[in-house]
Amino acid sequence: MPLSSNLLYANDRPGEHPTSYYAASAVPLSDFAPLDGDASCEVCVVGAGFTGLSAALHLAEAGLDVLVLDAHRVGWGASGRNGGQIGSGQRVVQGSLEKMVGKDDARRLWQIAQDAKDLLRSLVKRHRIECDLKRGNLHTMHRERFVAGARAYAEKLRTEYDYQHIRFVDREEVREMVGTDAYHGGTLDMDAGHLHPLSFARGLARAAVKAGARLHEMTEVKSCAAGDPCKVVTGTGTVHAGFVILACNGYLGDLSAEVAARVMPINNYVIATEPLGDKQARELIRDDVAVSDSRFVINYYRLSADKRLLFGGRESYSYTFPRDIKRFVREAMLEIYPQLHDVRVDYGWGGTLAITMNRMPHVARLAPNVLSFSGYSGQGVALATLAGKLLADAIRSTSQSFELMEKLPTPRFPGGATLRWPLLVLAMTYYSLRDRF
Ligand SMILES: Cc1cc2nc3c(=O)[nH]c(=O)nc-3n(C[C@H](O)[C@H](O)[C@H](O)COP(=O)(O)OP(=O)(O)OC[C@H]3O[C@@H](n4cnc5c(N)ncnc54)[C@H](O)[C@@H]3O)c2cc1C
Repeated sequence: MPLSSNLLYANDRPGEHPTSYYAASAVPLSDFAPLDGDASCEVCVVGAGFTGLSAALHLAEAGLDVLVLDAHRVGWGASGRNGGQIGSGQRVVQGSLEKMVGKDDARRLWQIAQDAKDLLRSLVKRHRIECDLKRGNLHTMHRERFVAGARAYAEKLRTEYDYQHIRFVDREEVREMVGTDAYHGGTLDMDAGHLHPLSFARGLARAAVKAGARLHEMTEVKSCAAGDPCKVVTGTGTVHAGFVILACNGYLGDLSAEVAARVMPINNYVIATEPLGDKQARELIRDDVAVSDSRFVINYYRLSADKRLLFGGRESYSYTFPRDIKRFVREAMLEIYPQLHDVRVDYGWGGTLAITMNRMPHVARLAPNVLSFSGYSGQGVALATLAGKLLADAIRSTSQSFELMEKLPTPRFPGGATLRWPLLVLAMTYYSLRDRF
């Protein structure tokens, strides 16, 4: 793969987190030495993001010998760069899921997503992970015509799914909550929330190592051959593993052609303003909830612990990040908050996530002992954390939740590995233009 299109190296310096608010403020974690030479283990996990770290933690707690390899650092990928928003449900709303898989399975998928939030909170509590975990997520409608749908969806979840944490919020109340005229209404979900994602990833890593997992950073996996044992080749040797978990998400590259045909990397960006002080912070987001809007290219934002506005939005469909990310995302922020025109932007960074055609995760047993979970389509904070547990369950015995997710339809992207990107650019450009008109 040419270096420029290898997302492990296209936009970042090896082994270094981007210059982000998260890297500057996360709880510290010592480096882990690269793997030197050959090794063997019961389970080799490739990728130290939420998926891989949670899998390693659950496997190590169950007494398995686990080796985690990451090309860069713990939480270096999307897990250490994201908006930190913890959503409810899957990326696909329940009505669409019911049409996709039927009412019974849609209900099970809702419950799986509920389990994901519960798991995240229980991990934070059990392992005393300091990650500024907070409750509340306001989903706002940028078009008047979406408001009836938002009201109906809150009602559907309350009545059909017995989910009482969500309520409709009218235009006036939204304006009071987020200090902007940009929205026509929305829904407030108090069982959703937000956290500091890199601190959470580091907390998972610390817990996994404490439970007995071995972790190596700066160790890129070059290839992985299924077999008994599997052979995982790194730059310095070969790991013989009873099982392999591919937890690479948007950075998978060509490690598995089967996954790559169904899971597409896409870049997204976040900025952090200077600290705003309590008064201005409250004027922007009164109740310290996370906010996300109804645009196809979603604006998502929240306050940091030190009262900066962390604003995410703007996608780009080339392998490389825009030269001036701060300026690129600031434009979107000022559309919502013009009053921030003289506020300094201290950090701007990008990251690579992975989407699927139908926006449901892609779960695959590539061989009896090679498993992959990826393509959370922008909703991975809780779901990837749960995915790690489901992978661990599936390796140890059977997991009904894993099996349900494994049988979800995950169509290939049209155009195959070479043409899918230009076709995606066309489709995405069309939809992002629709956000504007
Ligand atoms: C800017 C941005 C904002 C987002 N906002 C949100 C949000 O607010 N809420 C939400 O729920 N989700 C959000 N997401 C999505 C979420 O971050 C991801 O779904 C989630 O972090 C995926 O975790 P993961 O562990 O599967 O992958 P990652 O965290 O990307 O980890 C993959 C790891 O694999 C390693 N790796 C890859 N290939 C190899 C190899 N060959 N050898 C060794 N190591 C390898 C990488 O170095 C990387 O560390 C966002 C994503 C981005 C980029």
